[in-house]
Amino acid sequence: MSSPIADPDAATAASAERGATEIEALREMDLMVPVAGITPQQIPDTYWSKRDAGRLHRASDIMAAKGTTVIAPVEGTVLKVGRNTSGGIVVYTTDIERRFVFYHAHLDRVADGLTDGATLRQGEVIGYVGTTGNAQPNAPHLHFQVMRMPADGRYWEGMPVDVRPFLTKTGKAR
Ligand SMILES: [Zn+2]
Repeated sequence: MSSPIADPDAATAASAERGATEIEALREMDLMVPVAGITPQQIPDTYWSKRDAGRLHRASDIMAAKGTTVIAPVEGTVLKVGRNTSGGIVVYTTDIERRFVFYHAHLDRVADGLTDGATLRQGEVIGYVGTTGNAQPNAPHLHFQVMRMPADGRYWEGMPVDVRPFLTKTGKAR
């Protein structure tokens, strides 16, 4: 007779396997730092920094002069060019297989002609570093967050992942 209670060991193994596959996928992407001229080593570890109301940052802040080129970390598609209170001018993109969501915030402006659904090559210009949203006016930076694409397609609500270890290429606009 089978037990109606799920086997916790099996659940843990499935979850671990998912995690391993995900790490493999991120590694294989050979992600580029999404700001021109910035090396992977220059990105500070701000993923677990505390923010307002006990929230965790769960993103990387890439400091750069205002107007520095922001580029696509990997080949893929633009999900949404938009604006929100905390992020200011933002762009959401995804990889070809739509496994991950890349969120770029505090942009000064978006690249000319960039629209929802546009295809992107790695290193393609998507915008410029700024201080829109809740960024400090004297500290322009790109707030860069990577999330797992949720099964329901609500890309703005994906579970974040610390991408810093997977950024292997220095940012270079094409
Ligand atoms: Zn940030």
